[in-house]
Formats: sequence, structure tokens, C-alpha cells
Amino acid sequence: MGLTVHVGCGFLQGQTEFGEQRCRCSPALKWQRGDVPELRQLCPSCLSAPAGGPSRWSVLVCRRCWKENRAKYHLPLARHSIPNAILLEADAGSEEVARFQAEILGMVDIQRRLGEWRRVHLQRLLAHAGFEAVAEMPEDLVHLLARLYLPPPQEAILGLAAWLREGGSVPAGW
Ligand SMILES: [Zn+2]
Ligand SMILES: [Zn+2]
Repeated sequence: MGLTVHVGCGFLQGQTEFGEQRCRCSPALKWQRGDVPELRQLCPSCLSAPAGGPSRWSVLVCRRCWKENRAKYHLPLARHSIPNAILLEADAGSEEVARFQAEILGMVDIQRRLGEWRRVHLQRLLAHAGFEAVAEMPEDLVHLLARLYLPPPQEAILGLAAWLREGGSVPAGW
């Protein structure tokens, strides 16, 4: 089903088989199925494929960016801590509990900054393609523009990793 990207926040909106999905600027609606009130997101790394999903086990980048991340960067880009290998044993001592807490907080911060990167990255792509005045765009058209003008997933993840490492400044050359 065709969703549209709200350029102001970078999240998708529209009708899905689970009900109406709203972007982050509007209060979420009651959702009929799934663990989270959205069917999918735009991959924040390459912008050229869908990411996320209605399950708590979904991954917040597309399949190709996740594969690249797993091979090289090990960023906690899955929604839940377990696929990010952030685990706590039942008999953990206080040091392990403290490490676990720090890793969870780091994961939450990275996931917040993922959304910021998608918004910045999307607005730069649209400006480059001559669509700076557009408020909404079909998801498929964003995917197409990203394939035309942005690096492929194996290079796109470099920009995302740099953004996360630098604490939110746009890396040189992006
Ligand atoms: Zn929005
Ligand atoms: Zn991607």
C-alpha cells in the first residue's frame, strides 16, 4: 500500500492493512495489530528501501544496511535490545547490571538520533533533487530519488555511522 513521507519529520503516513499510520507530528491512532503503531519506516541510512515493521523485533534500517552494519559497525539498529546483543544474564552482578543499563541508554540515544539523521538526510536529498518546497512525497518516489542521487547501502551506512559517532553533526562530503 502506498504511504507518503512527511518531509518535516521523515516518517511515513497513510492507510495500511492495520489501520491509519501517522507520522510523528500527529498523535498515534489506536492500532489493531502489531507491537508498534506503524507498518514500516524509510531506511534512515540509504533512504532507498523500507525499514522497521509492526513487530518489536523489527530492524530500523533496510535489509542491506543491516547486513552492512552487522559486518562492520555493530550499531544497535534493531528496535529491541536482544537482536542488538544487549543482554543481561540472570545471575549478573552489579557491574554487569550497570553495563547493561549504559548499553540500553546508548541504544535509546542512537535510535533517537537515527530519526534526526533521516530527517536531515532526506531534506538534503530533496533539496539536491529540486524538491525543497515539497511537504509530502510518495515513499516510492523517495526510494527512486535516493537510488539516483545517494550512495548505495554499503556506502550510505558510513554517513550514518559518522553522524552517530560525531554526536549529530553532518559528516564532511554529505
Ligand atoms: Zn510528520
Ligand atoms: Zn538502507
